[in-house]
Amino acid sequence: MKAREYVRKSLEKMIEDIEMLVSHASVYDVSSIDKERPFGTNVAEALNAFLNLAEKMGMETRNFNGYAGDVTIGHGKRMIGMLGHIDVVNVTDGWKTPPFLVVKKNGNLYGRGTSDDKGPLVSCLYAMKYIMENKLLPESHSIRLIIGADEEEEYRCINYYLKKVERLPDLSFIPDANFPLIYAEKGLIDFDINFLNKKQEYYQADVLELQGGNARNIVPSDARCKIAVLGSERECVRNALNKFSELKIRETVDGFELLSEGVSCHAMNPEKGKSAIASLLCGMKESGISFSIQHFLDKYDEVFGRTFDGSLLGCAMHDEITGDLTVNVGTICMNGDIIEIKSNVRYPVSNSYDEIMERMIKPLEKVGFNYKEILAIDPLYIEKSDPIVSSLMEAYREVTGDFENSEMAIGGATYARFLPCAVSFGPLFPWEPELAHEDNECISIDSLEKITEIYIIALKKLIQL
Ligand SMILES: [Zn+2]
Repeated sequence: MKAREYVRKSLEKMIEDIEMLVSHASVYDVSSIDKERPFGTNVAEALNAFLNLAEKMGMETRNFNGYAGDVTIGHGKRMIGMLGHIDVVNVTDGWKTPPFLVVKKNGNLYGRGTSDDKGPLVSCLYAMKYIMENKLLPESHSIRLIIGADEEEEYRCINYYLKKVERLPDLSFIPDANFPLIYAEKGLIDFDINFLNKKQEYYQADVLELQGGNARNIVPSDARCKIAVLGSERECVRNALNKFSELKIRETVDGFELLSEGVSCHAMNPEKGKSAIASLLCGMKESGISFSIQHFLDKYDEVFGRTFDGSLLGCAMHDEITGDLTVNVGTICMNGDIIEIKSNVRYPVSNSYDEIMERMIKPLEKVGFNYKEILAIDPLYIEKSDPIVSSLMEAYREVTGDFENSEMAIGGATYARFLPCAVSFGPLFPWEPELAHEDNECISIDSLEKITEIYIIALKKLIQL
Protein backbone atom coordinates (compact mmCIF):
# COMPACT_ATOMS: atom_id res chain seq x y z
CA MET A 1 0.00 0.00 0.00
CA LYS A 2 1.24 3.49 -0.84
CA ALA A 3 2.03 5.72 2.13
CA ARG A 4 -0.72 8.20 1.31
CA GLU A 5 -3.37 5.51 1.08
CA TYR A 6 -2.18 3.93 4.33
CA VAL A 7 -2.39 7.28 6.13
CA ARG A 8 -5.93 7.88 4.82
CA LYS A 9 -7.01 4.46 6.02
CA SER A 10 -5.36 4.93 9.41
CA LEU A 11 -6.61 8.46 9.96
CA GLU A 12 -9.68 7.67 12.00
CA LYS A 13 -7.71 5.41 14.32
CA MET A 14 -4.94 8.00 14.63
CA ILE A 15 -7.46 10.64 15.68
CA GLU A 16 -8.90 8.26 18.27
CA ASP A 17 -5.41 7.69 19.66
CA ILE A 18 -4.77 11.43 19.84
CA GLU A 19 -8.11 11.91 21.63
CA MET A 20 -7.16 9.26 24.15
CA LEU A 21 -3.70 10.77 24.77
CA VAL A 22 -5.04 14.33 25.08
CA SER A 23 -7.57 13.12 27.68
CA HIS A 24 -4.62 12.45 30.01
CA ALA A 25 -3.93 16.00 31.20
CA SER A 26 -0.18 15.36 31.33
CA VAL A 27 0.86 18.61 32.97
CA TYR A 28 3.73 18.37 35.47
CA ASP A 29 2.08 17.95 38.87
CA VAL A 30 4.28 18.20 41.91
CA SER A 31 1.45 17.10 44.24
CA SER A 32 1.22 13.57 42.82
CA ILE A 33 4.89 12.71 42.42
CA ASP A 34 6.23 9.35 43.62
CA LYS A 35 9.02 6.96 42.67
CA GLU A 36 7.42 5.58 39.52
CA ARG A 37 5.73 8.87 38.68
CA PRO A 38 8.49 11.48 38.81
CA PHE A 39 6.33 14.11 37.10
CA GLY A 40 2.97 13.22 38.66
CA THR A 41 0.09 10.84 37.96
CA ASN A 42 -1.21 12.28 34.71
CA VAL A 43 2.16 12.42 32.98
CA ALA A 44 2.85 8.81 34.06
CA GLU A 45 -0.53 7.65 32.78
CA ALA A 46 -0.09 9.39 29.44
CA LEU A 47 3.32 7.78 28.99
CA ASN A 48 1.91 4.34 29.85
CA ALA A 49 -1.00 4.88 27.50
CA PHE A 50 1.33 5.71 24.64
CA LEU A 51 3.55 2.69 25.32
CA ASN A 52 0.44 0.47 25.45
CA LEU A 53 -0.61 1.71 22.02
CA ALA A 54 2.77 0.76 20.62
CA GLU A 55 2.77 -2.61 22.33
CA LYS A 56 -0.62 -3.45 20.84
CA MET A 57 0.84 -2.72 17.43
CA GLY A 58 3.45 -5.37 18.12
CA MET A 59 6.37 -3.08 18.90
CA GLU A 60 8.87 -3.45 21.74
CA THR A 61 8.43 -0.89 24.49
CA ARG A 62 10.32 0.11 27.62
CA ASN A 63 9.44 2.49 30.41
CA PHE A 64 12.38 4.21 32.08
CA ASN A 65 10.85 4.66 35.54
CA GLY A 66 8.33 7.16 34.32
CA TYR A 67 11.01 9.58 33.11
CA ALA A 68 10.90 8.49 29.50
CA GLY A 69 9.98 5.55 27.31
CA ASP A 70 11.05 4.05 24.04
CA VAL A 71 9.43 2.06 21.27
CA THR A 72 11.54 -0.05 18.94
CA ILE A 73 11.08 -2.06 15.77
CA GLY A 74 13.80 -4.32 14.41
CA HIS A 75 17.02 -5.42 16.03
CA GLY A 76 19.60 -4.24 13.52
CA LYS A 77 22.67 -2.37 14.61
CA ARG A 78 22.13 0.74 12.52
CA MET A 79 19.49 2.67 14.45
CA ILE A 80 17.29 5.52 13.28
CA GLY A 81 15.76 7.58 16.05
CA MET A 82 12.91 9.97 16.69
CA LEU A 83 12.35 11.94 19.89
CA GLY A 84 9.13 13.57 21.07
CA HIS A 85 7.43 14.28 24.38
CA ILE A 86 4.20 13.30 26.09
CA ASP A 87 4.02 16.09 28.71
CA VAL A 88 2.19 19.32 27.94
CA VAL A 89 2.14 22.86 29.29
CA ASN A 90 -0.67 23.96 31.56
CA VAL A 91 -3.78 25.73 30.32
CA THR A 92 -5.33 29.10 31.11
CA ASP A 93 -8.99 30.08 30.97
CA GLY A 94 -8.69 31.44 27.43
CA TRP A 95 -9.76 28.09 25.96
CA LYS A 96 -12.98 28.07 23.94
CA THR A 97 -13.27 24.27 24.15
CA PRO A 98 -12.39 21.90 27.02
CA PRO A 99 -8.59 21.71 26.61
CA PHE A 100 -8.27 18.03 27.49
CA LEU A 101 -11.09 16.85 25.28
CA VAL A 102 -10.35 16.81 21.56
CA VAL A 103 -12.93 18.84 19.64
CA LYS A 104 -13.15 18.55 15.84
CA LYS A 105 -14.00 21.86 14.21
CA ASN A 106 -13.37 23.30 10.72
CA GLY A 107 -10.99 20.49 9.85
CA ASN A 108 -8.92 20.98 13.00
CA LEU A 109 -8.45 18.98 16.17
CA TYR A 110 -8.46 21.31 19.17
CA GLY A 111 -6.91 20.23 22.46
CA ARG A 112 -3.81 20.69 24.60
CA GLY A 113 -1.01 18.63 23.08
CA THR A 114 -2.64 18.00 19.70
CA SER A 115 0.32 19.68 18.00
CA ASP A 116 2.87 19.82 20.86
CA ASP A 117 3.62 16.98 20.89
CA LYS A 118 1.06 14.18 21.11
CA GLY A 119 -0.25 14.45 17.55
CA PRO A 120 3.27 14.29 16.07
CA LEU A 121 4.15 11.35 18.37
CA VAL A 122 1.16 9.48 16.96
CA SER A 123 2.38 10.33 13.43
CA CYS A 124 5.80 8.83 14.25
CA LEU A 125 4.18 5.71 15.68
CA TYR A 126 2.04 5.15 12.60
CA ALA A 127 5.04 5.78 10.36
CA MET A 128 6.87 3.00 12.20
CA LYS A 129 3.82 0.76 11.90
CA TYR A 130 3.83 1.29 8.14
CA ILE A 131 7.52 0.34 7.89
CA MET A 132 6.87 -2.74 10.03
CA GLU A 133 3.75 -3.95 8.22
CA ASN A 134 5.29 -3.47 4.81
CA LYS A 135 8.48 -5.22 5.92
CA LEU A 136 10.63 -2.32 4.77
CA LEU A 137 13.17 -2.59 7.56
CA PRO A 138 16.29 -4.53 6.62
CA GLU A 139 17.83 -6.83 9.24
CA SER A 140 20.75 -4.48 9.57
CA HIS A 141 18.47 -1.69 10.88
CA SER A 142 16.20 -0.73 13.73
CA ILE A 143 13.98 2.29 14.41
CA ARG A 144 13.46 3.73 17.86
CA LEU A 145 10.99 6.37 19.00
CA ILE A 146 11.99 7.96 22.31
CA ILE A 147 9.29 9.64 24.40
CA GLY A 148 10.26 12.20 27.04
CA ALA A 149 7.94 13.13 29.90
CA ASP A 150 9.50 16.39 31.12
CA GLU A 151 10.34 18.38 28.00
CA GLU A 152 8.23 21.35 29.06
CA GLU A 153 9.90 21.67 32.45
CA GLU A 154 13.52 20.73 32.96
CA TYR A 155 14.46 17.95 30.52
CA ARG A 156 14.89 15.55 33.46
CA CYS A 157 13.28 12.94 31.17
CA ILE A 158 15.88 12.90 28.44
CA ASN A 159 18.74 13.46 30.86
CA TYR A 160 17.65 10.36 32.81
CA TYR A 161 17.23 8.41 29.59
CA LEU A 162 20.70 9.40 28.36
CA LYS A 163 22.19 8.09 31.60
CA LYS A 164 20.27 4.80 31.62
CA VAL A 165 20.05 3.72 28.00
CA GLU A 166 22.65 1.34 26.61
CA ARG A 167 23.04 3.17 23.30
CA LEU A 168 21.59 6.01 21.25
CA PRO A 169 20.32 6.10 17.67
CA ASP A 170 22.93 6.80 15.00
CA LEU A 171 20.86 9.55 13.43
CA SER A 172 17.51 11.05 14.40
CA PHE A 173 14.83 13.52 13.55
CA ILE A 174 12.77 15.36 16.12
CA PRO A 175 9.06 16.06 15.51
CA ASP A 176 8.80 18.95 17.97
CA ALA A 177 9.54 22.20 16.10
CA ASN A 178 9.15 23.35 12.49
CA PHE A 179 9.24 22.19 8.91
CA PRO A 180 11.08 22.12 6.67
CA LEU A 181 14.07 21.38 8.91
CA ILE A 182 16.38 23.00 11.47
CA TYR A 183 20.05 22.20 10.89
CA ALA A 184 21.67 24.80 13.17
CA GLU A 185 20.75 26.07 16.64
CA LYS A 186 22.74 28.63 18.59
CA GLY A 187 24.43 27.66 21.84
CA LEU A 188 22.52 28.77 24.90
CA ILE A 189 23.35 29.60 28.50
CA ASP A 190 20.77 30.54 31.11
CA PHE A 191 22.38 32.32 34.03
CA ASP A 192 21.72 34.51 37.06
CA ILE A 193 23.95 37.41 38.00
CA ASN A 194 23.82 39.17 41.34
CA PHE A 195 25.32 42.52 42.12
CA LEU A 196 26.09 43.79 45.59
CA ASN A 197 25.37 47.51 45.48
CA LYS A 198 27.54 49.76 47.64
CA LYS A 199 25.67 52.87 48.68
CA GLN A 200 27.53 56.14 48.55
CA GLU A 201 27.35 58.53 51.47
CA TYR A 202 25.39 61.07 49.47
CA TYR A 203 22.57 60.51 47.01
CA GLN A 204 19.50 62.48 45.95
CA ALA A 205 17.13 59.56 45.47
CA ASP A 206 16.89 56.44 47.58
CA VAL A 207 15.75 53.45 45.54
CA LEU A 208 13.17 51.54 47.60
CA GLU A 209 12.00 49.06 44.99
CA LEU A 210 13.30 47.93 41.64
CA GLN A 211 11.60 45.32 39.53
CA GLY A 212 11.13 44.34 35.91
CA GLY A 213 10.45 41.54 33.44
CA ASN A 214 8.79 38.14 33.72
CA ALA A 215 11.16 35.53 32.30
CA ARG A 216 14.80 35.25 31.33
CA ASN A 217 14.01 34.31 27.74
CA ILE A 218 11.59 37.17 27.08
CA VAL A 219 12.55 40.77 26.32
CA PRO A 220 10.92 42.61 29.27
CA SER A 221 7.87 44.75 28.54
CA ASP A 222 7.73 46.49 31.88
CA ALA A 223 10.02 47.74 34.63
CA ARG A 224 9.48 50.00 37.58
CA CYS A 225 11.33 51.66 40.38
CA LYS A 226 10.17 53.47 43.52
CA ILE A 227 12.33 56.23 44.91
CA ALA A 228 12.22 58.37 48.02
CA VAL A 229 13.39 61.96 47.68
CA LEU A 230 13.84 64.67 50.29
CA GLY A 231 11.35 67.53 49.98
CA SER A 232 14.13 69.99 49.12
CA GLU A 233 15.30 67.81 46.19
CA ARG A 234 11.85 67.05 44.84
CA GLU A 235 11.61 69.79 42.26
CA CYS A 236 15.09 69.22 40.91
CA VAL A 237 14.57 65.43 40.62
CA ARG A 238 11.20 65.89 38.94
CA ASN A 239 12.70 68.21 36.34
CA ALA A 240 15.56 65.86 35.59
CA LEU A 241 13.24 62.84 35.21
CA ASN A 242 10.76 64.68 33.00
CA LYS A 243 13.42 65.08 30.34
CA PHE A 244 13.15 61.33 29.63
CA SER A 245 10.12 60.50 27.56
CA GLU A 246 10.86 56.78 28.01
CA LEU A 247 10.02 57.06 31.70
CA LYS A 248 6.56 57.63 33.06
CA ILE A 249 6.59 59.35 36.39
CA ARG A 250 4.06 59.10 39.20
CA GLU A 251 4.23 61.22 42.32
CA THR A 252 4.14 59.31 45.60
CA VAL A 253 3.98 60.52 49.20
CA ASP A 254 7.73 60.46 49.69
CA GLY A 255 9.01 60.59 46.14
CA PHE A 256 8.26 59.10 42.74
CA GLU A 257 7.49 55.92 40.97
CA LEU A 258 9.27 55.48 37.63
CA LEU A 259 7.72 53.20 35.06
CA SER A 260 9.04 52.12 31.74
CA GLU A 261 7.27 50.21 29.02
CA GLY A 262 9.01 48.12 26.40
CA VAL A 263 7.98 45.72 23.67
CA SER A 264 8.18 42.12 24.65
CA CYS A 265 9.35 39.36 22.29
CA HIS A 266 11.29 36.13 22.49
CA ALA A 267 14.92 36.56 23.54
CA MET A 268 16.14 34.77 20.41
CA ASN A 269 15.16 37.84 18.34
CA PRO A 270 15.77 40.74 20.74
CA GLU A 271 15.91 43.21 17.85
CA LYS A 272 12.15 42.74 17.44
CA GLY A 273 11.48 44.09 20.93
CA LYS A 274 12.50 46.88 23.25
CA SER A 275 13.75 46.24 26.76
CA ALA A 276 11.87 48.09 29.49
CA ILE A 277 14.66 47.25 31.93
CA ALA A 278 17.30 48.89 29.70
CA SER A 279 15.09 51.97 29.22
CA LEU A 280 14.56 52.31 32.96
CA LEU A 281 18.15 51.79 34.08
CA CYS A 282 19.73 53.84 31.29
CA GLY A 283 17.14 56.59 31.72
CA MET A 284 17.99 56.75 35.42
CA LYS A 285 21.71 56.84 34.69
CA GLU A 286 21.37 59.48 31.97
CA SER A 287 19.13 61.71 34.12
CA GLY A 288 22.13 62.92 36.06
CA ILE A 289 20.35 62.34 39.37
CA SER A 290 22.42 60.48 41.95
CA PHE A 291 20.65 57.35 43.14
CA SER A 292 21.36 55.06 46.06
CA ILE A 293 22.06 52.32 43.49
CA GLN A 294 24.36 54.56 41.44
CA HIS A 295 27.18 52.04 41.76
CA PHE A 296 24.97 49.42 40.10
CA LEU A 297 23.61 51.81 37.45
CA ASP A 298 27.15 52.74 36.41
CA LYS A 299 28.20 49.10 36.07
CA TYR A 300 25.02 48.11 34.23
CA ASP A 301 25.56 50.95 31.78
CA GLU A 302 29.16 49.85 31.32
CA VAL A 303 28.41 46.19 30.48
CA PHE A 304 24.89 46.15 28.99
CA GLY A 305 23.52 49.65 28.44
CA ARG A 306 20.89 49.44 25.73
CA THR A 307 22.70 46.75 23.74
CA PHE A 308 21.80 43.10 23.30
CA ASP A 309 24.76 41.90 21.25
CA GLY A 310 27.46 41.73 23.92
CA SER A 311 29.38 44.58 22.24
CA LEU A 312 29.93 46.56 25.46
CA LEU A 313 31.41 43.46 27.07
CA GLY A 314 33.67 43.01 24.07
CA CYS A 315 32.09 39.72 23.11
CA ALA A 316 30.06 40.58 20.03
CA MET A 317 30.23 37.43 17.92
CA HIS A 318 28.83 36.61 14.51
CA ASP A 319 28.89 33.85 11.94
CA GLU A 320 27.31 33.35 8.55
CA ILE A 321 25.26 30.37 9.70
CA THR A 322 23.46 31.62 12.78
CA GLY A 323 24.18 35.36 12.85
CA ASP A 324 24.87 37.45 15.97
CA LEU A 325 25.31 36.57 19.60
CA THR A 326 22.35 37.88 21.60
CA VAL A 327 22.08 38.48 25.32
CA ASN A 328 18.88 39.29 27.16
CA VAL A 329 18.42 40.72 30.63
CA GLY A 330 15.02 39.15 31.24
CA THR A 331 14.24 40.07 34.84
CA ILE A 332 15.58 42.33 37.53
CA CYS A 333 14.74 42.51 41.21
CA MET A 334 16.28 44.29 44.18
CA ASN A 335 16.57 42.49 47.49
CA GLY A 336 18.16 44.70 50.13
CA ASP A 337 21.56 45.65 48.72
CA ILE A 338 21.57 42.82 46.21
CA ILE A 339 20.30 43.28 42.69
CA GLU A 340 19.36 40.03 40.98
CA ILE A 341 19.22 39.54 37.24
CA LYS A 342 18.03 36.53 35.25
CA SER A 343 19.63 36.41 31.86
CA ASN A 344 20.12 34.33 28.78
CA VAL A 345 22.78 34.34 26.07
CA ARG A 346 22.58 32.69 22.65
CA TYR A 347 25.81 32.36 20.69
CA PRO A 348 26.65 31.41 17.10
CA VAL A 349 27.39 27.77 16.25
CA SER A 350 30.96 28.67 15.29
CA ASN A 351 31.71 29.80 18.85
CA SER A 352 32.04 27.70 21.98
CA TYR A 353 30.92 27.65 25.58
CA ASP A 354 34.52 28.28 26.68
CA GLU A 355 34.69 31.42 24.57
CA ILE A 356 31.55 32.77 26.23
CA MET A 357 32.99 32.07 29.65
CA GLU A 358 36.23 33.81 28.72
CA ARG A 359 34.90 36.79 26.79
CA MET A 360 31.57 37.46 28.47
CA ILE A 361 31.28 35.92 31.91
CA LYS A 362 34.80 36.78 33.10
CA PRO A 363 34.40 40.50 32.25
CA LEU A 364 31.03 40.47 34.04
CA GLU A 365 32.63 39.00 37.14
CA LYS A 366 35.46 41.51 36.91
CA VAL A 367 33.08 44.44 37.35
CA GLY A 368 31.34 42.78 40.30
CA PHE A 369 28.55 40.59 38.94
CA ASN A 370 28.31 37.21 40.66
CA TYR A 371 27.65 34.50 38.08
CA LYS A 372 25.53 31.41 38.63
CA GLU A 373 24.88 29.05 35.75
CA ILE A 374 21.40 27.59 35.45
CA LEU A 375 21.57 25.71 32.15
CA ALA A 376 24.05 25.41 29.32
CA ILE A 377 23.26 23.81 25.98
CA ASP A 378 25.89 23.45 23.26
CA PRO A 379 25.14 24.66 19.75
CA LEU A 380 23.78 22.17 17.24
CA TYR A 381 25.06 22.09 13.71
CA ILE A 382 24.65 19.51 10.98
CA GLU A 383 26.03 20.62 7.63
CA LYS A 384 23.46 21.36 4.97
CA SER A 385 25.26 18.94 2.68
CA ASP A 386 24.86 16.06 5.15
CA PRO A 387 22.77 13.24 3.64
CA ILE A 388 20.40 13.32 6.64
CA VAL A 389 19.49 16.91 5.72
CA SER A 390 19.07 16.25 2.01
CA SER A 391 17.04 13.04 2.57
CA LEU A 392 14.63 14.73 4.96
CA MET A 393 14.29 17.78 2.72
CA GLU A 394 13.43 15.45 -0.17
CA ALA A 395 10.76 13.72 1.91
CA TYR A 396 9.29 17.08 2.86
CA ARG A 397 9.27 18.34 -0.73
CA GLU A 398 7.83 15.16 -2.16
CA VAL A 399 4.77 15.38 0.06
CA THR A 400 4.19 19.14 0.23
CA GLY A 401 5.47 20.30 -3.16
CA ASP A 402 6.99 23.23 -1.26
CA PHE A 403 10.33 24.08 -2.85
CA GLU A 404 10.36 27.66 -1.63
CA ASN A 405 11.11 27.18 2.04
CA SER A 406 14.52 25.80 2.86
CA GLU A 407 16.34 24.40 5.87
CA MET A 408 16.75 26.86 8.75
CA ALA A 409 19.22 28.04 11.36
CA ILE A 410 17.62 29.35 14.58
CA GLY A 411 18.46 31.04 17.87
CA GLY A 412 16.10 28.88 19.89
CA ALA A 413 16.81 25.45 21.33
CA THR A 414 14.85 22.37 20.32
CA TYR A 415 14.78 18.86 21.68
CA ALA A 416 17.25 17.87 18.93
CA ARG A 417 20.18 19.01 21.08
CA PHE A 418 20.05 15.91 23.19
CA LEU A 419 20.79 13.33 20.52
CA PRO A 420 23.83 12.89 18.31
CA CYS A 421 23.34 13.69 14.62
CA ALA A 422 19.79 14.94 15.09
CA VAL A 423 17.75 17.65 13.39
CA SER A 424 14.32 19.08 14.11
CA PHE A 425 11.88 18.15 11.39
CA GLY A 426 8.28 19.39 11.75
CA PRO A 427 5.54 19.27 12.78
CA LEU A 428 4.58 22.92 12.13
CA PHE A 429 4.43 23.92 8.46
CA PRO A 430 5.82 27.32 7.41
CA TRP A 431 2.33 28.54 6.48
CA GLU A 432 0.78 27.63 9.85
CA PRO A 433 0.55 29.94 12.91
CA GLU A 434 2.59 29.01 15.99
CA LEU A 435 0.06 27.62 18.48
CA ALA A 436 2.21 25.51 20.77
CA HIS A 437 1.73 26.57 24.41
CA GLU A 438 -1.10 28.92 23.36
CA ASP A 439 -4.77 28.75 24.21
CA ASN A 440 -6.82 26.82 21.65
CA GLU A 441 -3.86 24.80 20.41
CA CYS A 442 -4.86 22.65 17.44
CA ILE A 443 -3.59 20.55 14.57
CA SER A 444 -5.30 20.46 11.22
CA ILE A 445 -6.39 17.00 10.10
CA ASP A 446 -4.91 17.71 6.71
CA SER A 447 -1.55 18.52 8.32
CA LEU A 448 -1.72 15.39 10.45
CA GLU A 449 -2.02 13.35 7.25
CA LYS A 450 0.85 15.20 5.59
CA ILE A 451 3.10 14.95 8.64
CA THR A 452 2.57 11.19 8.86
CA GLU A 453 3.23 10.70 5.18
CA ILE A 454 6.39 12.82 5.38
CA TYR A 455 7.65 10.76 8.33
CA ILE A 456 7.00 7.50 6.48
CA ILE A 457 8.97 8.67 3.45
CA ALA A 458 11.66 10.11 5.73
CA LEU A 459 12.13 6.77 7.48
CA LYS A 460 12.25 4.96 4.15
CA LYS A 461 14.97 7.34 2.94
CA LEU A 462 17.00 7.23 6.17
CA ILE A 463 17.02 3.43 6.00
CA GLN A 464 18.74 3.76 2.60
CA LEU A 465 21.59 5.96 3.92
ZN1 LIG B 1 7.17 20.44 22.35
